Amino acid sequence: MLPFARVSILGLGLIGSSIARGVKAYMPGARVTGYDADPATRLEADALGFLDDVADSPGAAVTDADLVMLCVPVGAMAQAAASMADDLPADAVVSDVGGCKVSVAAALRAALPQATIVPGHPVAGTEHSGPAAGFPGLFKGRWCILTPAGDTDPAAVMRVSAFWERLGAEVEVMDAAHHDRVLAVTSHVPHLIAYSIVGTASDLEEVTRSEVIKFSAGGFRDFTRIAASDPVMWRDVFLNNREAVLEILQRLTEDVTMLQRAIRWGDGDKLFDLFTRTRAIRRSIVEQGQDDAAPDFGRRHE
Ligand code: NAP
Repeated sequence: MLPFARVSILGLGLIGSSIARGVKAYMPGARVTGYDADPATRLEADALGFLDDVADSPGAAVTDADLVMLCVPVGAMAQAAASMADDLPADAVVSDVGGCKVSVAAALRAALPQATIVPGHPVAGTEHSGPAAGFPGLFKGRWCILTPAGDTDPAAVMRVSAFWERLGAEVEVMDAAHHDRVLAVTSHVPHLIAYSIVGTASDLEEVTRSEVIKFSAGGFRDFTRIAASDPVMWRDVFLNNREAVLEILQRLTEDVTMLQRAIRWGDGDKLFDLFTRTRAIRRSIVEQGQDDAAPDFGRRHE
C-alpha cells in the first residue's frame, strides 16, 4: 500500500524535483503536484515532465493533498507554509526537508497550528540546484532524519518514514536540537570551512588566481565542490542554526590553535596521531556505505 496517494511539493529545486521523480519511479499510482514561487521554474518543471500537475498557486497545489512536502530554503519555510495554510486539507500530513530543524519546526508550527507536522531532513544532496539537477535515486542508501514533536500522531510519523523508505532512504527519528548539533559537525561547519578556504585562496595576493586553479588538484578542488553549493540555501542554514554552528566553530578554533602550536614547536607525534585517527574515520564512512572506496573519489586516471 502507498504511504501517500496525493503528494504535493512546494519548491521544485534539487530536492523537491528529486522527491517528485522518486515518487514517480518508486510509488507508481501516487499523484504528484508541484508549485514553485518562480514562474520560470514552474515552466521548466512542467517541460521536464516529473509532475502530474504544475499548480499556479500554493493553495491550488495542496487542495487535495494527503502529504505536503516543503522543499524551499530554510528561510522561506514560514512564508511557504503560510501561503498554503487556508487550503490545506485537515487530514493532510505536512513535512519538509530543511537542513536545520529547531527553527523550521517552530516556523511550521506557528504557520499551521492545527496541522499534523513531521519535520524531516534527507541527508543527501549535491552542489547543484534547480529542477534539472534532481534525480530519482538521490536518496538511495542515504539517511533521512525525522524530528517530530513528542505529541505527534505516531501513525503520521510511520507514514512519512514509509515514504522515505520507498525513496530508498534509511530513516532515523531524533530530537530536533540533537539533529542541529549533529549536522553542525557533519555538514554545516564543513561547508563553512570550504567556503572560507576557497575565499582565502582566491584573495591571496602572493599567488595568482590562475595558479590557484592550475594547481588545485593538491586538495583545493575538493573544497571547491562543497563551496559551489547554493548560496541562498547555505546562508539560511547558518542564520537558522546559529547556536550549534557557533559552538562547534569554537571547538574547531581551539583544535586549529593546537595544530598551529604543534607545527610551530615541531611536535610531529601530535600531527601523526591526529592524521592516523582521521584516516580511520574515512575508512568507517566507506565501510558503512556512505561513500565509494575508489581512490580520489572515483576520478578516472588513465
Ligand atoms: P533549490 O534547488 O534552490 O530549490 C528551492 C526552490 O524553492 C527554488 O526553485 C525556489 O525558487 C523555491 N522557493 C523559494 N521560496 C519558495 C516559496 N515560498 N514557495 C515555493 N517555492 C519557493 O534548493 P534545494 O537544494 O532543493 O534545497 C531546498 C531545501 O532542501 C532547503 O531547505 C535545504 O536546506 C534542503 N536540503 C538541501 C540539500 C542539498 O544538498 N541541496 C540536502 C538536504 C536538504 P527561487 O529560486 O525563486 O527562490
